[in-house]
Amino acid sequence: MIQSSSRRMDQMFLKAEVIKAGGQSYFFAVFCLTLASLLSLPLTWYLSLLVGMVLLGQTQISSFYILLTLWVTLGLSRLFLIFVGERIAITVAAKVRVHLRHQLFSKLFSLGPAYLAQKESASLTTLLVEQVELLEPFVARYLPQLYVTAFSLPAIIFVMIFFSPFIALLLTLCAIMAPILMIVAGLAAHKKSIQQQETFSKLGGLFLDRMRHLETLRIFGAVEQEKKVLQTSSTLYHKKTMAVLRVAFLSGLSLDFLSVIALALGALHIMGLDVHAQNALFILLMISEFFAPLRKLLLSHHDRSNALAATAKIREVLMHADTTVSKMMGPHVSLPEPLWTPTIDLQNVSFTYTDRTIPALDKFSMHIEGGAFVVLSGPSGGGKSTVLSLLMGFIQPQSGLIAVGNCAIEQIHPQQRTQLFSWIGQNTRLMFGTLKENILFGLKTIDQAQLERALEQAGLTTIIESLPHGLETVVGENGFGLSGGQAQRVALARALLRQSPILLLDEPTAGLDEETTLDFLNCLLLLKGQRTILMVSHDLLAQQKAEKVIVLPYTQGETV
Ligand code: ADP
Ligand code: MG
Repeated sequence: MIQSSSRRMDQMFLKAEVIKAGGQSYFFAVFCLTLASLLSLPLTWYLSLLVGMVLLGQTQISSFYILLTLWVTLGLSRLFLIFVGERIAITVAAKVRVHLRHQLFSKLFSLGPAYLAQKESASLTTLLVEQVELLEPFVARYLPQLYVTAFSLPAIIFVMIFFSPFIALLLTLCAIMAPILMIVAGLAAHKKSIQQQETFSKLGGLFLDRMRHLETLRIFGAVEQEKKVLQTSSTLYHKKTMAVLRVAFLSGLSLDFLSVIALALGALHIMGLDVHAQNALFILLMISEFFAPLRKLLLSHHDRSNALAATAKIREVLMHADTTVSKMMGPHVSLPEPLWTPTIDLQNVSFTYTDRTIPALDKFSMHIEGGAFVVLSGPSGGGKSTVLSLLMGFIQPQSGLIAVGNCAIEQIHPQQRTQLFSWIGQNTRLMFGTLKENILFGLKTIDQAQLERALEQAGLTTIIESLPHGLETVVGENGFGLSGGQAQRVALARALLRQSPILLLDEPTAGLDEETTLDFLNCLLLLKGQRTILMVSHDLLAQQKAEKVIVLPYTQGETV
């Protein structure tokens, strides 16, 4: 029951999207396609007349040609209407996908890294690419066909009443039975379709994961074993796909069976009557024409199951409660110009992750002077990264006060708040592209002097000189081709170019040797007084260089 009501919601959601994207043009497409379907009536009628003329030899050449011309013209008009209708429907389907992808992207951005961390990146990629794509057959084929069927079947039945009330009744019965067949097939297909999509998502995740860790798999001699895992998973996907197709074919077969019975009964009935040959031919042809829209609808019925299963996933993300910076309280305040050095204050801040009972932070307080270089230390799981996420607004504290530059953080405009911080993590992610593109990432305007200064401050100048193409050297994903220390410097240059007054670093030296760590720390020390720096680190060297070391969780409950 709950499942069917959520499916209805999914369907309503999709229809609303279609109206938003297409509106009147979509209705026009449905009109063209319905008209094309209704044209089957005169077309079949003229065809019966033409065949009758030839078979019965009552041909008057001139009327035969007039009829033939009429038939061809109608046929071409029908093709034209189908072409126009389908084209518009496909365009609307493309608009729906673009709009939904846009909405999903914005939502994922506003949900932020705290939400993304709980999700497999491969399953999100599948959602954004493949699953949104599954809406196309629903919008472009299934939905218009549903309306076409709903209009054209009663019209055919109505016309049939004038030829044979028995045939009209027979077709009415078929029209009642066909949706029942589809509902049964639809229920089975929906379940199979969800299973198929889940298996596909998992296969995608598995594949991406194994590709990423190919090196580890080789080192540990696990390649053969993992090959088998992938093989099992893809065989499972193959089986699930076949199960979906089996349901689709079986339901197609049952509709064909229904149409054969209707045709046989129709033929038997006509034989018992004294009907003109042309009328008899028209009736028999119309019985098979009657099933054409139904067959099309049934064929695209599993498109509906796929689309609804995908919509459920899309809605799940879109409806996810927003817990990030968008939550604003009180009047907004304007912060001073960029290059100032704000203080950071946390007072009795408590935060528990939604699925946890033990708080990650319990009444934690700290004070950081503007322009200071402070190290936040403590055991793993002590809540250090949580402090950074709270500051950047990826999560909201359940209680307590967070202030930057003596201004409560909720009062700062979300856009200004994101500009406050630059963040560097343990493993810098670089993208495939030139070093320059990676450093300037996200910046709209480039100031050469600023770039050179940032490179200098991050200690990148000599490194870049040693590279074959300098700043234009292409680096691979995840910084392939650069050492760990060099990648961290790239991250630092990138952070410095953003001109944000606060620099947050989450164990940036964890993977570096002592010498590289020292070099990196020296770069940071040069920034003292220009930026407020909060660095999470276990590193003793970092703690020695820092002006202040805050230790979690031993200091909980007191101001440090
Ligand atoms: P640290 O950075 O000091 O190692 P974290 O701030 O990452 O610690 O984590 C603090 C606590 O919160 C840990 O117990 C951790 O398991 C938990 N935690 C961290 N992130 C999440 C999350 N996204 N969902 C649930 N619990 C989390
Ligand atoms: Mg951490």
